[in-house]
Amino acid sequence: MVRYVYDFAEGGRDLAELLGGKGANLAEMTRLGLPVPPGFTVTTDACRAFLATGAEPAGLIQEVSDHLTALEEAAGRRLGQPDDPLLLSVRSGARFSMPGMMETILDIGLNDESVRGLAKVSGNERFAWDSYRRLVQMFGSTVMGVDGSLFEGVLDDLKRARGAAGDLDLTAEDLAGLVESYRSLVHQETGEHFPQSPAEQLRRAVLAVFESWNGERARIYRRREHISDDLGTAVNVQTMVFGNLGADSGSGVAFTRDPSTGRSGLYGDYLANAQGEDVVAGIRNTVPLTALAELDPVSYEQLRSHMGVLETHYRDLCDIEFTIERGRLWMLQTRVGKRTSEAAFAIAAELADEGLITPDESLTRVSGEDLARLMFPRFDTSAVGEALAHGLPASPGAAVGAAVFDSAEAVRRAAQGEQVVLVRQETTPDDLPGMIAAQAVLTSRGGKTSHAAVVARGMGRVCVCGAEALAVDTAARRFTVGDTVVEEGTVVSVDGSEGAVYLGAAPLVDSAVMRYFETGERSDALVGTVADAMERADGVRRLEVRANADTPEDAARARRFGAQGVGLCRTEHMFLGERRKLVEAMILARDESERARVLGELLPLQRQDFRGILEAMDGLPVTIRLIDPPLHEFLPDRTGLAVRIAAAEARGERPEPHDAELLGAVNRMHEENPMLGLRGVRLGLIVPGLVAMQVRAIAEAVVERTRAGGRPRAEIMVPLVGAVEELRIERAEVERVLAEVSAESGVPVRLPVGTMIELPRAALTAGRIAEAAEFFSFGTNDLTQTTWGFSRDDVEAEFFSAYLDKGIFATSPFESLDRDGVGRLVRIAVDEGRATRPDLKIGVCGEHGGDPESVHFFHAVGLDYVSCSPFRVPVARLEAGRAAL
Ligand code: PEP
Ligand code: MG
Repeated sequence: MVRYVYDFAEGGRDLAELLGGKGANLAEMTRLGLPVPPGFTVTTDACRAFLATGAEPAGLIQEVSDHLTALEEAAGRRLGQPDDPLLLSVRSGARFSMPGMMETILDIGLNDESVRGLAKVSGNERFAWDSYRRLVQMFGSTVMGVDGSLFEGVLDDLKRARGAAGDLDLTAEDLAGLVESYRSLVHQETGEHFPQSPAEQLRRAVLAVFESWNGERARIYRRREHISDDLGTAVNVQTMVFGNLGADSGSGVAFTRDPSTGRSGLYGDYLANAQGEDVVAGIRNTVPLTALAELDPVSYEQLRSHMGVLETHYRDLCDIEFTIERGRLWMLQTRVGKRTSEAAFAIAAELADEGLITPDESLTRVSGEDLARLMFPRFDTSAVGEALAHGLPASPGAAVGAAVFDSAEAVRRAAQGEQVVLVRQETTPDDLPGMIAAQAVLTSRGGKTSHAAVVARGMGRVCVCGAEALAVDTAARRFTVGDTVVEEGTVVSVDGSEGAVYLGAAPLVDSAVMRYFETGERSDALVGTVADAMERADGVRRLEVRANADTPEDAARARRFGAQGVGLCRTEHMFLGERRKLVEAMILARDESERARVLGELLPLQRQDFRGILEAMDGLPVTIRLIDPPLHEFLPDRTGLAVRIAAAEARGERPEPHDAELLGAVNRMHEENPMLGLRGVRLGLIVPGLVAMQVRAIAEAVVERTRAGGRPRAEIMVPLVGAVEELRIERAEVERVLAEVSAESGVPVRLPVGTMIELPRAALTAGRIAEAAEFFSFGTNDLTQTTWGFSRDDVEAEFFSAYLDKGIFATSPFESLDRDGVGRLVRIAVDEGRATRPDLKIGVCGEHGGDPESVHFFHAVGLDYVSCSPFRVPVARLEAGRAAL
């Protein structure tokens, strides 16, 4: 029989799929002997079964009730027992952490009777009524569906009536009255009474947490983080402990190392006389954890020791939530903590130095995305002038954008291409769409563990929080700092590394990590850890990394970034600019001799391009692709031309003869689907002399470089091949020209000839194609386009976001390789190509070559290299190293 409930003492980290991250870690802490309030976890299996059928799976209620009985026996009191109630918290806990995205209900077990019992045993009437009103509020909104702001409204009215500045100014009697008002509100809104039965409260709370898995904000978050919708959440039911019983109580969040910088040493926020959610919500400003050493030295020492145990056990940065109830420390949660990219590198290096992890393991603790973030520019602090305000550096990086004051406005402006900074007093999960749309998040309240900080860090958004000098007036859509008024739309600059905000657009400087790649300069400790990680990755990786580069400058940069060659030189890019006229003349040529003359003019220009690239990559392979795109792309726009001619005729003038001729050519070459038309190898086979000119330019460049003492290693690549016959014909032409140039120059030019695999037919007949190809390079852009039948030029199409929303794919297949479909074709082509030619060199040069996930796939299927844009080369090197571990 399926089992749906596990006691904390029964679970463990290995059961994370079933118990969720939080449940598994609570079990782990319990087993380590740390002081965890007892409880049990309802599994993700139960959640999935409930969400699939809409009904509790058979046996669930009985299991929950059995575990509750055990809990009650151990505690010596019953859930909601009138004179001394056991109270429970009910919290979500999915496999992957989704901070603040799902529901929590606290103080389950309170009702009109047990609230009095709680008041008596705690000796604190105010606390008991405050707990009860929190329960009615959380249960009313989460379980019964009452709009949360209505509760806030009732509370605000009461505070106003009592002249109370904060919640703490309300008396026990006020709070008892508030419970009454809340209960009437619930009844009025739902037609139902707030349930008095503790068992019913528990049952409904568990189901509400299940349902919150499909809530809107949880779904948005999962999409953003690429978390599958099918996982479901576990539910943790835990004995309540109270941080709000007075000055000797409190709650906090702590990290075993600084999650912003990675520096070792305890770090976190503490709030006396408060429950955990008060800390995370950033409603009151916290004190640094170190202050606890004075407030409660015994608990502080215990905490330090427990955190040491955790870091050694998990061998990583851990974050925890804890509560002190009347001087007694309780550990409420732990997990391997999120961190900034900078901290990821620093922590990985330190843990390896400390011997807690192996050097290879340290490579698994950093990612290509972390590295990419560190390559972004920062503000030039010497040029920015006075900061407008300071806050906490919650998520690093530099961002410039127009200030906006709510999520919807951020989304609206970002959709129009504007860069925005979302400014809020504090953020809630409802702000998530705006946080995704914004370049940076700026809040006036809350600590480094506030919602804004945690979520922004996870997403890599720049964030400054707790900038208390800001008076944010959301309704008036402005904030003020002293006399300075910043209206919506005003450009501000946010420095998430320094915690500073500037008026206007601050100047940016390159990152030190970027400078390291450019110059090799190890300017600070962070760069040192990055450099070490790169060396380690280079030492273990099997995949080579090349770059897509079309100019000598790009090739040189790519080489500095560690590229081991050029995997794709797109020659058509060399036909743009003023050379366009020559291409036009070639297309319009009336006869062969005119065409030959124009090609003759293009030849030295192309030769010069190739010479520069071969020089920049001297000694390394340079894969030059013969021209690919449809020729009409080099002609003027058809409609514009037709309009010009018609306008001339309407004025009674004769159209320019050249225009008329051009229009004729454009019309002749017009294609409804140019992406599937006369391009790639087809062009080379149809337009006389074009390929010969390009091959001659390559071969002559090789001769020149050889004569200059260089070691040119050009390779010739034929695009968009679908049948081996195409490649055979083109190849014969290539070989003919190579032989010609060799004979003329006396320098033997023997260049490998290969093909791109970018059509399904090419992949499916790769065994044949390999007979005529010395290497393959997967053009996964076209291969994705032709496998899915999605136009790569229209990927921004409306339906793409709908497909993402519907979960048809979690990421665009143009960004991250579709393993099941396109990936299958890749495997077939690799296997069949190598069956024909065991030494076939195989790479990839589509955009996927620089995508971390795809790099792991290419490693796994046995490619020899990936090729990507120069800036992604370090990312690909790092990921290729990680893939090899
Ligand atoms: C490809 O199709 O993946 C490719 C690299 O070629 P292009 O992007 O130039 O079509
Ligand atoms: Mg292509």
